[in-house]
Amino acid sequence: MVQDNFAAQKRASGGGGTGGLPTTTTANGRARTLLPRGRQINKTFNNIKITILCGFVTILVLRGTVGIGSLSSSDADAVNQNLIEETNRILEEIRSDNDPDDSAESEINPNVTYALGPKIFNWDQERKVWLTQNPEFPNFVNDKPRILLLTGSPPSPCDNPIGDHYLLKAIKNKIDYCRIHGIEIVYNMAHLDKELAGYWAKLPMIRRLMLSHPEIEWIWWMDSDAMFTDMVFEIPLSKYDKHNLVIHGYPDLLFEQKEWIALNTGSFLLRNCQWSLDLLDAWAPMGPKGAIRDEAGKILTANLKGRPAFEADDQSALIYLLLSQKDQWMDKVYIENQYFLHGYWVGLVDRYEEMMDKYHPGLGDERWPFVTHFVGCKPCGSYGDYSVERCLRSMERAFNFADNQVLKLYGFNHRGLLSPKIKRIRNETVTPLEYVDQFDIRRPVFGHHGSRS
Ligand code: UDP
Ligand code: MN
Repeated sequence: MVQDNFAAQKRASGGGGTGGLPTTTTANGRARTLLPRGRQINKTFNNIKITILCGFVTILVLRGTVGIGSLSSSDADAVNQNLIEETNRILEEIRSDNDPDDSAESEINPNVTYALGPKIFNWDQERKVWLTQNPEFPNFVNDKPRILLLTGSPPSPCDNPIGDHYLLKAIKNKIDYCRIHGIEIVYNMAHLDKELAGYWAKLPMIRRLMLSHPEIEWIWWMDSDAMFTDMVFEIPLSKYDKHNLVIHGYPDLLFEQKEWIALNTGSFLLRNCQWSLDLLDAWAPMGPKGAIRDEAGKILTANLKGRPAFEADDQSALIYLLLSQKDQWMDKVYIENQYFLHGYWVGLVDRYEEMMDKYHPGLGDERWPFVTHFVGCKPCGSYGDYSVERCLRSMERAFNFADNQVLKLYGFNHRGLLSPKIKRIRNETVTPLEYVDQFDIRRPVFGHHGSRS
C-alpha cells in the first residue's frame, strides 16, 4: 500500500541532513527573494564583474598555454585562490537577498490580513463574457478543457551546479510530456510577490495566470523536483467536472489523522474560476516571510500530526485550511489516489526494472507511476532529508526511465537507467510509417507488434 511511502517526513526543518554541498541560503535552503527594482544597477555591476572575471580567466589560461610569464607555482596558487574567492563572492552577491531598498518596501502591517491582490468578486461572470467575445480562444478544444502546466524555480542559481542540471532535466521532461499531450507550459522564475518567495511563489503566479488567461480551464501546478514517469497516461479530467481542486492525497490521513502529509502540493490542478481565486486568498495569509510565516509555522506544527517545527509551508497551510473550514471548501475538492498525480519517489525509483518487466506505460499507478516527486531532496538547495548521492542517482533513473518512453518514438533507448548514452532499437523489419504506427506513444497499442491498419 502506498501510504507506507508517507512514513518519511516531507520537509525537515533544515540542516542536519546530508551536508556536503556549499550553502549560502537560509536554514532550510529554500527561500529566496525577487530582485527588487533597486537591484537592477547591482545586477549590471555583477554582469560587468563577471565579464572582467572571464577576461581574467582567459588571460590566465593563455599565459598557461603559451607558456610566457614567470609566475612561480606559489604565485599561480595564490592567483587561483584569489580567483576562486572572487567567483564565490560574486556568486554570493547574485544570490543574496540584501538590498538597501528592501526594508522600505517590505513593511507589511501585521494587523491587516495579507492579500494576494485586490479582491475579485465576479470572475466567473467576467470570464464568461470574455469567452463569448473571444471565440478564437475557447476554453474547450475538441471537447477537452484547455490545461496550462505551471512550474518554476528560484530566480538565482542553485547552490550547486548539479542542481541546475537537474532543473534542466526536469523541465525537459515536462516539455516532452506537454508536447506529446498538447498542454501549454509556463516556467516561472520570478517572485511576483516578494513576501511569497520560495515554495509560496506558486500562489501569486497561479492567480496571475488565471486572470491573464481566461481561456485556460485548468492550471496544473507541478514542482520543479517532480517528473513525469508515465508519458502515456492522461489525467481523467471528465471525472472532475464538478470539482475545482484536484490534489493527490488520502481523506483518512486528512480528516482522521490530521497528518501534515495527507495531501501533497507538489502537483495539483486548480480550475480557473471564482472559487479558486477565493481559495488562493484564504490560503495565502500564512505565506509572508519573516514573523508571519514563522508564527504561522508554530500553529501548523501544533495542529498537524508529524509536522516538524519550521516556518509555514504552502502544503501544511492548505491542509490546515481544509481541515478548519471543511464545510466551506471540501465539496469542490477532489482528493485523488487512484493514480500518482503525485508519487513519492521513495519506493518507486527502485522498481523501474520490475515495472518494465511486467507492465507498460499508460497505467499511471504503482505499476507505472504517472508522476515521481523528489520530495525532501532539495536538488537546488543545500540540505535535503536524504543523501545527495541517493537523490541524484534516483533522479537520473527517473529521468531516463521517462526519456526512454520518449526516445522510443524515434527508435532509440538509453543503454541503462543510469546512462546518458543511447542505443538504437533494432527494428529493421518495419518501414518508417509502420514504425510510427507501432511506437507512437500518443496512440498506445500494447501487447502486439503488428501494424495497426
Ligand atoms: N519554487 C519556486 N520558486 C522558488 C522556490 C521554489 O517556484 O523560489 C518551487 C519549485 O518548483 C519547487 C517548489 O516550489 O519544486 C516546492 O519546493 P520543494 O520542491 O523544494 O519542496 P518539497 O517538494 O521538497 O517539499
Ligand atoms: Mn517538491
